[in-house]
Amino acid sequence: MPSKYVYYYRCPQHRNNYVLSFAFAFDREDDVYQFAFSYPYSYSRLQKYLELRQTQFPEIFKRETIGQSVQERRLEFVTIKEEVPEAEARSQRKLVFVTARVHPGESPASYVCQGLMDYLVSNTPIARCLRRNLVFKFIPMLNPDGVFVGNYRTSLLGADLNRCWQDPSPLAHPTLHATKKLLETLASNKEDDLSLYLDLHAHTGLLGTFVYGNSYDDVYRFEHHALFPKHLSNCAEDFSSESTVYNRDPGKSGTSRRSLTSLLPDKVNCYTLEVSFYGYPKHGSAKNIIPYLEEDYLRLGESICRAILDYYNATGFIPSSDMPAGTSAAASSRGEKNKGKRESRLGTRVPPGSHYSSKRLPQGRAKMPSSSTSTRSTARANSNN
Ligand SMILES: [Zn+2]
Repeated sequence: MPSKYVYYYRCPQHRNNYVLSFAFAFDREDDVYQFAFSYPYSYSRLQKYLELRQTQFPEIFKRETIGQSVQERRLEFVTIKEEVPEAEARSQRKLVFVTARVHPGESPASYVCQGLMDYLVSNTPIARCLRRNLVFKFIPMLNPDGVFVGNYRTSLLGADLNRCWQDPSPLAHPTLHATKKLLETLASNKEDDLSLYLDLHAHTGLLGTFVYGNSYDDVYRFEHHALFPKHLSNCAEDFSSESTVYNRDPGKSGTSRRSLTSLLPDKVNCYTLEVSFYGYPKHGSAKNIIPYLEEDYLRLGESICRAILDYYNATGFIPSSDMPAGTSAAASSRGEKNKGKRESRLGTRVPPGSHYSSKRLPQGRAKMPSSSTSTRSTARANSNN
């Protein structure tokens, strides 16, 4: 649609809020017209996608229903895991838990979630390495009613579910209630070690991909918390360090990131991962914005997988000798000079076991790492995650 037909303005008749309007001629009688804020990703599309993957990869892709929404839609739960012969199996695998579409209008989050699942079931060496060392669990649609009825931010009953994590009601917020119970069970389960939680969202106001995390007084705890976003910044060309924020804003205490951080053991890192509805600046230039296509959102899933692998390598869980060929860690373990663009820019590796030190720095000496993803507790207080 030509931009001269699109209007965006503050409107006194709508409490001075911004209004977007456009002129459009329905000039072809036989055509069906649809308008969408972004690429649609419906409840039925998810059902078909899960059905297909379940049939294609029954050995590694397990689909379950762990609850129902208010209108009795399925709360889907997917596990991606490879069975490893006992002799080669680790005593415990790390568990990565991913949720999406708590905000039903944020359809790009579903593409990212599908991209993650697509990559994880693939036959690439990185996906195989991830499946053998880690277990991945997904709730791909936390708010199926909201998605079905076409709400932008709320549930069927009008609640912003990402403000209800502290005390979800089994009647009004059944999908959250079931997910929270599941996470509590997984956290107490000795079989797998729950260590990473990602809640996928899409952002209307900012560009690129970025993360909202938590801030911690303990500098070592914070250093560890900032590690995954740093690896993601190495793996995703659209990553925005400027928009990545760590905070403890009281207004966000009902979000999954904040609420689950209090609920789950301290070692679990919880993040909100946002991707722009619009696009990302090419080579950082605000003048040259590349609009996201569906395939870009899907590809972000692959970048997240690469970042997860690098993160568990950097924390010592996956040794460099086990890293698939083509990754920077695999090359350096063979003594090769790596000139690839995915080479870690972090410089320092965190020795295993040292990053959870509960020791606090003496009062007044605690400093956050001076990275581009430093804590900005007050910045973007009105961010819409
Ligand atoms: Zn959101």
